[in-house]
Amino acid sequence: MRKYLVAGNWKMNGGRAVNGELCDRILAGLTPSDSVEVLVCPPFPYLESTGARLSGSAVRLGAQDVCEYPAGAYTGEVSAGMLRDLGCEFVIVGHSERRAMMNESSELVAAKFAAALREGITPILCVGETLEQRTSEQTEQVIGAQVNAVLDELGVDAFSSAVVAYEPVWAIGTGRTASPEQAQEAHRHIRSVLAGRSGEIADAVQILYGGSVKGGNAAGLFAMPDIDGGLIGGASLDAAEFLAIAEAAASQN
Ligand code: PEP
Repeated sequence: MRKYLVAGNWKMNGGRAVNGELCDRILAGLTPSDSVEVLVCPPFPYLESTGARLSGSAVRLGAQDVCEYPAGAYTGEVSAGMLRDLGCEFVIVGHSERRAMMNESSELVAAKFAAALREGITPILCVGETLEQRTSEQTEQVIGAQVNAVLDELGVDAFSSAVVAYEPVWAIGTGRTASPEQAQEAHRHIRSVLAGRSGEIADAVQILYGGSVKGGNAAGLFAMPDIDGGLIGGASLDAAEFLAIAEAAASQN
């Protein structure tokens, strides 16, 4: 049976004091649950201090991006080995902000996914359609192609230690959430694309929903059969909201 994963993507927010306080509030308020994993992904400069605070707790540490290369003359980049050194167990790859603003292609995202796996870090592969693509009924085609770009390059076994996050671009940071039914439809499609290669891996992979999830709408989303948690942006910066989302996941069983 799949566990829920509630992952906070802090993006480029906060600072030493604010992020430390956020972390402490999450730790103080979190009720341990056997069915829910909790993860925070701070900006690179705060990985070490956040990791130190999380040490010995149930909250896991992840990064927001990784370089596709292992080492060398790549000014400004951070390798998967460095993330491993800092205690990261997860890394987000292919977030729509990076696909759009940094022109990351699906091929580059697949290379980052592979770099994470080489260091034993679980990649969280973000996929999702724009509003225009949804309106022109291309949702399944777009998210299928984003998943297939990794499948074709690395094979289905790569997904036995990976997470997928369905994040419709039109719902990220907009306050507009996919309905549980819309999200479920997309999640079912992602699982069916994986099932085309391996039913067993498709059944086991966690598929998170991301896009304006809050304490008030999380339970409805998490009640859907193919939604295994959330990738949370804005609401992960508010400890009470983030804890309410984790609680919504815990209350599903
Ligand atoms: C995200 O950026 O991954 C995200 C889901 O953001 P938000 O929750 O703010 O929509």
